Amino acid sequence: MDESQSALLAARGYRTRPAGTAPDGAGARKDAVVDDLIEFLRARLDEDAERARAAAARPDAASEEAWRVSGSHSDAGGTYWSVTAGVMGQEVVELVGGGMSGGGAHTEGMAEHIARHDPARVLAEVDAKRRLLDLHALVHRDVLWLDSEGGEATEEIAVCGHCVPRHSCFSDRGAVPQGGCATLRLLATPYADHPDYRNDWRP
Ligand SMILES: [Zn+2]
Repeated sequence: MDESQSALLAARGYRTRPAGTAPDGAGARKDAVVDDLIEFLRARLDEDAERARAAAARPDAASEEAWRVSGSHSDAGGTYWSVTAGVMGQEVVELVGGGMSGGGAHTEGMAEHIARHDPARVLAEVDAKRRLLDLHALVHRDVLWLDSEGGEATEEIAVCGHCVPRHSCFSDRGAVPQGGCATLRLLATPYADHPDYRNDWRP
């Protein structure tokens, strides 16, 4: 990774795995690959939550109202939109200025986007994704499939505890879904530009 790439990642709040500690994907077992994927996802969600908390209008306040687009201001340069947050139903904090008083969002769409992705929304999404990680964790489970003679074969295999229910039976050994399920892989795709993201995680 060169310096500009490091700076870009740092600007996005990413921490990267220290050099030389990347796992060797070539010989890794499928469940080890999934362990790495889950560790990667937890680290990215921790970063997202940390950034969201730091972005709160008043990080020390117990709660704040949803961010909202609070108005627009036009001057010779155009129209600018402001975004505000209320803290504890009392104080209104201007987050993005409305125009000449100190800048502003250049389009209403930008202001709406900022307000829609306020810290509360991001933290709620992080919480939902952490629950998905728990729901789709690997478990070692006896899985059944039909062998070439039409009989039943079974083996304890690491599978997604949600996508492969107990007593699942598959048409053949190759049909048994092993490793990270599609849900885990899809959760990681927004972070595919991170240097620790691995191509074998792609859905
Ligand atoms: Zn799953």
